[in-house]
Amino acid sequence: KLVRDILSRPPIVAKQNISIEEAARILTEKNINHLPIVDEEGRLIGIVTSWDIARAVAQNINSICEIMTKHVISSTLDEPIDVVARKMSRYDISGVPVIDKSGKVVGVVTAEDLSKLLGNRK
Ligand code: SAM
Repeated sequence: KLVRDILSRPPIVAKQNISIEEAARILTEKNINHLPIVDEEGRLIGIVTSWDIARAVAQNINSICEIMTKHVISSTLDEPIDVVARKMSRYDISGVPVIDKSGKVVGVVTAEDLSKLLGNRK
């Protein structure tokens, strides 16, 4: 199976000018833990998780740019899902944004998606 077969779309993304509170609201209201941050063209420039929000609160930081991880581990639509699983375990992350050829975010694959896939297998 490839990433494109299991992708949840459309992706929930945000721009870097949103506040920490807005990011926290998106994560809780949409029941997600990975929020890709994109530029005006929808291209990936960072990622924010609830861990980063916790850090913002702990260290009294008020800007997304300061808390987002800028070196994002991502995947492409044609990547096999076991490659994605290995990336998550190697980098100690639980989700990767999926980008198309132009760098636009087209979805997110999470460890939850992968475990559901294994759980459904007969
Ligand atoms: N193991 C936990 C998890 O999987 O969510 C937490 C540890 S993880 C190292 C926390 C950090 O990883 C956060 O600062 C977050 O921004 C970052 N992170 C999450 N997904 C990422 C990804 N796909 N690429 C780069 N960094 C990512």
